[in-house]
Amino acid sequence: MASIPQTMKGVIIEKTGGTEVLQHKTDLPLPQLKDGEVLVKNDYIGVNYIDTYFRSGLYPTGGFPYTLGREAEGTIVKAASSGELYGLKEGDRVVWMHVGAYGEYTAVPTTKVVKIPDSLPPKVGASALLQGLTALTLIRVAHHVNKGDWVLVHAAAGGTGQWLCKLLKSVGANTIATASTPEKLALATKAGATHVINYSSEDVKAKVMELTGDKGVIAVFDGVGKSTFDLSLSCLARLGSLLSFGNASGAPEPLTIARLSAKNIRLMRPTLFNFIVDRDELESYTKELFDIVLKDKLEPSIHEVYPLSEVARAHNDLEGRKTTGKLLLDPSK
Ligand code: NDP
Repeated sequence: MASIPQTMKGVIIEKTGGTEVLQHKTDLPLPQLKDGEVLVKNDYIGVNYIDTYFRSGLYPTGGFPYTLGREAEGTIVKAASSGELYGLKEGDRVVWMHVGAYGEYTAVPTTKVVKIPDSLPPKVGASALLQGLTALTLIRVAHHVNKGDWVLVHAAAGGTGQWLCKLLKSVGANTIATASTPEKLALATKAGATHVINYSSEDVKAKVMELTGDKGVIAVFDGVGKSTFDLSLSCLARLGSLLSFGNASGAPEPLTIARLSAKNIRLMRPTLFNFIVDRDELESYTKELFDIVLKDKLEPSIHEVYPLSEVARAHNDLEGRKTTGKLLLDPSK
């Protein structure tokens, strides 16, 4: 195993704002290990929309300097000398979900780290982890989708959207997917959507009602937020569920709950980090996800592996709706 350097490349922010606040450094000190932590040399860092919320100030960082990034794939290069290690050791290929991913090395509590199956090719772990687990928990726990159910997925060509289409296909759902361009709709179909609607140019509600025989869908998976919230409510069937799980277009306006009574609608604002809290949950959901990926030979859709030094371009592309699938960062560049 290569020796561990004194300093590393990484990206920090010292205030919130636009992409100009992202500072790429080449001389950051390596994180110090605490009890029950492992030092991971990150090979691929996953970019997620939530990173832009912490950068912009929509979500509080709790202090500065702050290192963005919530997931990565890499190798354990050192383990703490005390604390519960759950069998993790130097040399293990792992994925992890925690904080502080935008760097060459991260100290991660072992409760947040899992080994990757040997058969999983490089990049697949980082591409699948956070967005795949989000999709899995949304369709299993937030609203359990059954074979033959009609559901609606917004921004279906995005990172999370494509995982939703893939996992819904494996369940046998009738998935109506929305996206803003014909190219994105084609990707949603490739990922497993059974019907597609361009929400920039078509009447989504009319088409959903036509497809479902005027019943509406039993669940809407809405990561777009402000601009689709009312539309999502209008597309639901009686007793349907609106899973409002993100704010890509801005946070939805406050809701008068009486609006839900028209169709006895269930509304949830789920976050992955409240579905996966302890290590047992992380291990069991990750195992289930990677088992599906391997069994169904699911290929992650990777938009681009950006050099970490070009993280501002990655954020601009994501927020500018220029991307499809997963964005990764290579911390060595
Ligand atoms: P995506 O790859 O899906 O990118 C966002 C997509 O949203 C865009 O490509 C675009 O697709 C669509 N979009 C619609 N309106 C806008 C807008 N005004 N500005 C920008 N994008 C817009 O990102 P992620 O997969 O990383 O995240 C998707 C959503 O899921 C986010 O809201 C994120 O916060 C949420 N999320 C929530 C989690 C949770 O635990 N609750 C976990 C993971 C993700 P198009 O051009 O087709 O409209």
